[in-house]
Order: sequence, then structure tokens, then C-alpha cells
Amino acid sequence: MTILHIDADCFFVSCELAKWPKLRGKPVATGMERGIVSALSYEAKYKGIKRGMSIIEAKRVCKDIIFIPSDYETYSLYSKRMYNIVRRYSSEVEEYSIDECFVDLTGLDKLYNKSLSQIAKEIKETLDKELGFNFSVGLAPTKTLAKIASKWNKPSGLTIIEREEINNYLKDLEVIDVWGIGPQTSLKLNEIGIKTAYEYVNKSYDYIKTRLHKLQYEIWQELQGNMVYKLNTNLKDNFYSISKTKTFTPAINNYDYVFSQLSKNVENACIKLRRYNLAVKSVFFFLKTQSFNYHSFEIKLLRASNNPIEIIKEIDKKFRNIYSPYRMYRASGVVFSKLTKNDLCQTDIFLESLKNDKLERIFSGLDKVSKKYGKHSIFLGSSFKAIVSSSNIAKTHRDAKASRECFKGETSKKKINIPYLGRVS
Ligand SMILES: [Mg+2]
Repeated sequence: MTILHIDADCFFVSCELAKWPKLRGKPVATGMERGIVSALSYEAKYKGIKRGMSIIEAKRVCKDIIFIPSDYETYSLYSKRMYNIVRRYSSEVEEYSIDECFVDLTGLDKLYNKSLSQIAKEIKETLDKELGFNFSVGLAPTKTLAKIASKWNKPSGLTIIEREEINNYLKDLEVIDVWGIGPQTSLKLNEIGIKTAYEYVNKSYDYIKTRLHKLQYEIWQELQGNMVYKLNTNLKDNFYSISKTKTFTPAINNYDYVFSQLSKNVENACIKLRRYNLAVKSVFFFLKTQSFNYHSFEIKLLRASNNPIEIIKEIDKKFRNIYSPYRMYRASGVVFSKLTKNDLCQTDIFLESLKNDKLERIFSGLDKVSKKYGKHSIFLGSSFKAIVSSSNIAKTHRDAKASRECFKGETSKKKINIPYLGRVS
């Protein structure tokens, strides 16, 4: 057994509790900005709260439930700290998801003069101590078995599957609970009489080879303890999502002003997308009222984008669904999720790729201006009210004037109609 799988327990909520220790021991759920439970503490789980419940439903089940908005930037930060701690022990780390990773411990027993299970225990204890919440870890001969091991004794478990004990762990494990087996494959396996991982792994080579696909054959091998899946140790930009929120005081109900604040949030989030060469497919935006209620809407973009003009145009169409002139607002925000590498979404012949190309060049010019003269030297017309209302109007004017010169050089010869692009003069 050489592969260690590490999985944080209740990761999003654990990060929140590490940030706000006073909430420990209480039923807590994140997802307030969406109006649904997105992650929950064990206390909330024990009280019967489930993921996906609406706030109202959750309050009915448990009236003391504490709802907080998700804070993905903090989660990313904790995620990076997790990887950094693990890399102190081994350079062979696969960043599998925001709160999970695989580590290859091969040879480390000789290096540290300790058994692999001792090293696994030490990594877990260091993570628990330094991050302030619990991790479940599993040590096994393959990635698939390590996944089973880490899930075995949650929360805060440490499970070691020795080669000769594999069958004990597979005996009562349904095939649907094996990593890589989805509902369809599980159904297919059930149909041919394979219900548990044990039944699966004990079929003969010939049986598997003739009846099942390559992927299912690979899983069969992995379950026997023969490693097929190597670790993918390429570094990832592990952004799960990007969010930007801004509170405004005093609370206000002016349509243009509130929209403008949202527009500025979109611009800021897009700057971050472009910095990491990412694009977004799912845009979630919300308004928070003076009485702390959230009204939100989620948009699925036709193609991934990091262009604020495209995104604001879509938000513009739906803004009235959540805005009411009879409510006073105190904050707006956007959450970008389903992030992809920008290179993957460039060629779409249906969407005026030429125009998009030009816009992309403009935004790369804008990013250069911002780098030189400061953020929001040039901004979209739709963000005008939000930017001008911010504390340093004079500075914005001065910077805008200076940067216009530079911006001209980049784009003056190209006449493109950009309805949302504005400048301060
Ligand atoms: Mg987890």
C-alpha cells in the first residue's frame, strides 16, 4: 500500500468554522447567497438538514440553523494550504479536487525511517492541527482502494487497506460506491448479477474481458490491488469558482446604481478570470436587501467567456427578475463557477468569432492599462455609477485620462461597437 487519499471532512463548512470559531458545535449551513443549503456541518446533518434544501425548508426542520454565504476565495486558500502541507512529505501529489488529493508514498518509509502507516498518520495529524479541522485519510495499494479507505471511517478516519485484507473491505460495498462506477455501469453490473465490489473483483479475467469495457476492466484490476491509475501530478489552477461582492452604504433602491454595482463586480471577477486564463460557464448573481434577504439568479452561458460585456448583457436580461424598486439593497455580488481553461472555448463558429477575437484583444489591452495605471482606469459604461461613487473620484479621472493615451495606441484604428464600454472624460 503506497497511495494515500486525503479528503477534508465537510470542507466548506470546516473552513467557515476555522474562520469563525464561535460557530463550532452549532448547526451551520453555507449557500445563503443561493437560498439553498450547499454544505453543512455535522450538527446540521444530525438535525435532519440535507444538501439542496431551501432556506425556508431548512428553518422548518431546524429553527436554530445558522446560514452563511459561501466564500470560495477562502476555500481556495485553505485548499492551497492543504496541498502545501502534503507536499512537505512527498512531491508526488495529485490535486484531485478542492478538498481531496492523492499522494504517492512509495519509498518514503526508507527516507523517513518510519512505516507508511506512521507517515500517513503524521500527515493527517499535521493537516488537522495546522488547518484547524479534520481530514479523513486512506492508505491502500491503488487509487481506487485508497478512495474506499478514506471514506471508510468518516469523519476524521485513518484506514489502511493491506493487500491481504482487500476482500474484507469489498464484501458489503455496493458497486455504485466504487470510484469510477456511475449509475449506468452499476445498473449494467447489477443486471449481470454483480451487486457488490467483492462479486465484481472475484469474476475471472475471461469473464471481465469478454463482457465489460476497458474502463470497467481497469477498475477491476485496481480493486484487486494492481495499480492502473497513476497520479496526475501536473499543477492545476485550482480555482473552484471566483466570487466578487460589494456592500454599499447607505442602502439604496436606485435601479441604475444597483445594476452598476453588479456590473463592477462582474468586471472585477473577469479581470481575475483573464489573469489565470480561465473562462466561466455558469454565472450566479445576487442582491442582498437591507433586511438581509438574498435574491438571486443563475445564468448558464452558451459558451464559456471571460468577457464582461457578454456576461453583463446576459445579466441585464434577467436583472429585473430579482430587482424590485420597493426594496432597499445593501450589497450585490457575482459567483462564477464551472471554470474552464480559456483556450478550450475560442472557436465557436456560431458566435461571431471575429468580433469576439477583437473584444479579446481589447480586454488584453485593458488589462495592460490596469496593470500600469491601476484597476478601473478604464471600465465599462455599465459600471460608471459604481466606480464614480467610490471614494476617489478625482483619482479615477486622472488615471483614466492618462491611461486613455495608452489605450488609444492599442485599439484606436479598430472601430468596434461596444455598447457597454464607457470612459470618464
Ligand atoms: Mg470532502
